[in-house]
Amino acid sequence: MAFTTEVKDELARMQPSRRCCRQAELSALFHLEGALHLKGANRLGLHTESENAAVARKMFAYLKELFSASPELRVEKAPRLRGHNCYCLYLDDSEKSTQILNELGLLDDSLRPMLGVPARITRRHCCGIAYLRGAFLGGGYISRPDQPAHLEINVQHDEMAEGLRTLAARYDISMNTTRKKRLYSVYSKGRGEQVDFLALLGAHNAVLRLQSDAVVRELRERVNRRVNSETANLERIVNAAQDQLQDIRVIDESLGLGSLPPSLRVVAEARMRYPEASLAELGEHLQPMLSKSAVYHRILRLRRIAAGI
Ligand SMILES: [Zn+2]
Repeated sequence: MAFTTEVKDELARMQPSRRCCRQAELSALFHLEGALHLKGANRLGLHTESENAAVARKMFAYLKELFSASPELRVEKAPRLRGHNCYCLYLDDSEKSTQILNELGLLDDSLRPMLGVPARITRRHCCGIAYLRGAFLGGGYISRPDQPAHLEINVQHDEMAEGLRTLAARYDISMNTTRKKRLYSVYSKGRGEQVDFLALLGAHNAVLRLQSDAVVRELRERVNRRVNSETANLERIVNAAQDQLQDIRVIDESLGLGSLPPSLRVVAEARMRYPEASLAELGEHLQPMLSKSAVYHRILRLRRIAAGI
């Protein structure tokens, strides 16, 4: 199942306890999934098309419960959805429907369509969240946890995209808007923002999936970084030892190691015996033992002698 479907199923199952929030959710769903039909003066009907059965059921239940309306629910094969099932809801063009659409903020008082996020519906803190949930249920998409992070909500009008962006910002979630062909979209490419957004909507299972995936990925990256840095360390040690052996060979061939002061000679001999040891290990092989920095200083003196030859 696509991750988007999983998230929408989880959100569709949620029932806000307040009536105001159910109304806000329904308003967003109608705004994003609905098409208004004008049938004569002052008579407007609405029809919605959902790919997600749970979403269609939710709209149906809300209409019944909030307005005692009984819309028609039909399953159709939609060419737009490549022949997949489409769950269509028809709200007839009665006076009552017009009133419902006005109450939900889809029509203003002169019955003109309202294109943006209705301020009246989203005024309360709880209702703004419910509206965002409805918007994601209607036009949302989120990439799988193991894919590059992308979340978007597609809408038909610029005003709606801008309104959703502003609404999300009210809850400290920053999103961007863009235009794509005939649609507008409000989106985020940051997993952090997406986790905050889904947590705000109440999709806790989805949040857990995103987070556990992120934890696994971070662990894997940390192990890789560690392996890489240890490999790099080893390479540095080996390269350094090669240089030191080269210096010692130069000294041995021209002056002889016997010409070195004893403190340097023991280090040179230890290096020849343990070509792969780190400086600290080299110090431990000496009698008496030397610290890493003491070995380092003697190695530097050997280098200066070799350079002078
Ligand atoms: Zn509310």
